[in-house]
Amino acid sequence: MQTIILGAGISGLSAAYALEKACPGTYAIYEQGATVGGLCRTQQVDGFRFDIVSHVLHFRSQETEHLVRRILDDALIRQERSAWTYFQGRYVPYPFQTHLNALPKPVQAACLGGFLKAWIKRKIGSEREPGNFGEWVEQYFGRGIAQYFMRPYNQKLWGVEPEQLSLDWIRPFVPGAELGQVLSNLVSNRNHHQLGYNPWFFYPKQGGIQALSEAVCRRVAQVQFEHEAVEIDLERHTVRFQNGGQTGYERLISTLPLPALIERASGVPEELRREAAELRWTSLLNLTYCLRRPLARRCHWVYFPEAEYPFFRLVFPSNICGELAPEGGGLIAAEISNPEPEREEELERRVTSCLERLGWISHPSDIVRVVRIHFPYAYPVHDLERARRVRRLLDFLESRQVWSIGRFGAWRYSSIDSAITEALEAAPRILESSPGGVLGNDTTPP
Ligand SMILES: Cc1cc2nc3c(=O)[nH]c(=O)nc-3n(C[C@H](O)[C@H](O)[C@H](O)COP(=O)(O)OP(=O)(O)OC[C@H]3O[C@@H](n4cnc5c(N)ncnc54)[C@H](O)[C@@H]3O)c2cc1C
Repeated sequence: MQTIILGAGISGLSAAYALEKACPGTYAIYEQGATVGGLCRTQQVDGFRFDIVSHVLHFRSQETEHLVRRILDDALIRQERSAWTYFQGRYVPYPFQTHLNALPKPVQAACLGGFLKAWIKRKIGSEREPGNFGEWVEQYFGRGIAQYFMRPYNQKLWGVEPEQLSLDWIRPFVPGAELGQVLSNLVSNRNHHQLGYNPWFFYPKQGGIQALSEAVCRRVAQVQFEHEAVEIDLERHTVRFQNGGQTGYERLISTLPLPALIERASGVPEELRREAAELRWTSLLNLTYCLRRPLARRCHWVYFPEAEYPFFRLVFPSNICGELAPEGGGLIAAEISNPEPEREEELERRVTSCLERLGWISHPSDIVRVVRIHFPYAYPVHDLERARRVRRLLDFLESRQVWSIGRFGAWRYSSIDSAITEALEAAPRILESSPGGVLGNDTTPP
């Protein structure tokens, strides 16, 4: 094969889709698991269907939107986002920073005062450029919003202090706050939900997010399942698999987490190995509650900045798409960052008790089952050294005919639409690259 793709998540499948269009029959896809989709997979249990991590679709690229619509035969539902922040016992509309009207009075005063002070300082240009996320938050939103939401929420999600985070991920993920919006919401006491990068979103009508992975998969070469790449020889251009098989390649597209790829590759200078070992990321525990009662509220997800709640977000998949729960049932997913593996039982008990206190579960007998899934890789942490380290590693790999793409391959906080867009854009560049390796033949595993 001329091109080998490692990983059949949405990035690997999208790269395959582009190669299928450009040069069918010249590539092969290898996946360590038994199904396609990676993070974009959906499970079916006791009549419930849920994504292994909750997903919705939003598109920044029109081409990607058209492609997704075409391959799903337009079978998408469109929903106006209903997102909230739970704070001091009340639901504040998302984003927190423009809904100061919904805050308790003393907090409102602190947030508004801090916001106005920050706004004036920005206008008179008295501050130097922020050098990290923590500084940006204080300069842009002011001390109150930083203290009550931005700092605690982001610490919970990323597991590091905001000062350790860079600024290269905030667009599109952190909506800004215009003075006019903040004041008009305060005066009119109205909620404007239409801010941020996903004021509405899409979701497959049937089959959960996996419907998308499967639709792409049907249009590409057959995936070779249960082929975990364990050794990549960058000199000889060969990949060895856990099952004993081996293949050669001219070009390699990898969607493995970047540190895992470097660990498995031979011929990487020691200095670059050290760079890869310094990359940081979060793991995730996702607890999905399958309930025999419908949900009490119609919202889609809620952020939790406060420490008494172990999760940073609750998602309500059956409100995103009714098809996911059986008639009269409901689904809740609780997302916990960096859980200690030996404390998962205890965490589940705490989450259940929080859901009861919050009124999302009225009685333990409402629970049909709780599905616990642990993800070793969830968010690549955008620390201050990430961009430099990743650039060095990707440049080195590309000089060896290896393209590391996707959320974990390119080590970037990104979503499905950017995974698809980036894979489609990368494919022609990869094809244009000069062939450097030995063309190998697949060997059948013993
Ligand atoms: C909590 C959470 C919520 C999210 N919510 C959204 C959302 O609402 N909307 C949205 O657009 N995006 C969302 N995302 C992001 C989205 O899930 C990812 O951007 C996307 O799924 C990444 O796809 P990928 O193919 O790059 O990576 P992956 O899905 O991780 O795919 C990589 C594949 O490589 C395989 N692999 C790994 N190692 C090997 C090996 N050694 N050999 C062979 N195969 C291997 C894996 O099994 C996997 O199939 C969310 C992510 C998280 C963590």
